[in-house]
Amino acid sequence: MEKTRDRILEKRPFYGQILGFYTQVFQAQEESRPQGFIDPICIDSSMPEKKCTSAMPLIGPEEWGIDQNASARLLETICDIAATQTRELSETAIALKAAIADRRIDVKMLMDALLTSDDDVLSLIARTAGIHVHYLVMLTFLSIAPSIEIYAGRLAPCLENHPHEKGYCPVCGNSPDLFFLDENGNRHLKCCFCSHTWEMGRLGCVFCGNNDPDTRQYFFSPEEKEYRVDVCDQCHRYVKGVDTRHLDRPFVPKMEQVATLHLDIKAREAGYTSLTTKKL
Ligand SMILES: [Zn+2]
Ligand SMILES: [Zn+2]
Repeated sequence: MEKTRDRILEKRPFYGQILGFYTQVFQAQEESRPQGFIDPICIDSSMPEKKCTSAMPLIGPEEWGIDQNASARLLETICDIAATQTRELSETAIALKAAIADRRIDVKMLMDALLTSDDDVLSLIARTAGIHVHYLVMLTFLSIAPSIEIYAGRLAPCLENHPHEKGYCPVCGNSPDLFFLDENGNRHLKCCFCSHTWEMGRLGCVFCGNNDPDTRQYFFSPEEKEYRVDVCDQCHRYVKGVDTRHLDRPFVPKMEQVATLHLDIKAREAGYTSLTTKKL
């Protein structure tokens, strides 16, 4: 992870602060993983079939198995990391940690509200802690991400014989925030919420299936051969992509996602929007 960060920073030093923060967060997430205990998943073997034919994801927002204790500890660690960052983030992290410590806010309620996208409860909790709801969501999501990813990883084998040529995650139904091309040029999508990846044919808009070359384009810069942004003039969406055949560093999807914020800006300036989940 550090090697990937350093190689990116050689090319784009202006990402120093943000990648410095996220590298520490991703390392803390990795360290919290082995402690995570999640109840065994009991899944009806016919369920993936039923879900696929009814175009539904495997699980709904209330069905996630979250290790509350590990997530709460990780939230505290992430607040400590954030407390050393820019003033706004630092003040937010200190205020959130204090509100948890003196029990003004309930961590379980916070995590449940995030999972179910309960904006009213999230806003109430943010007001109680005296912080912006955007930061509350960001810090909380980073703390539950390992549990979500472990859970999604345990559900993924159920989908093995069920190709999913759709632009939403077959596990949780959220949108992709990144695609990548593997060594054979095959396109895979990464879920913005549970990080599950699935293969989707190389052609066609991820979101609306548009296959017309006149209304599908991509942004590409010769200085950044590893990146591409696919845009669609039919649904006006974009998705960022990494061609792993041009990478000079280990592929860490989350790191590349953070290190391509300049591409989000470019795509938005050109009038396109991403289709990430409401809660992130
Ligand atoms: Zn997902
Ligand atoms: Zn489209």
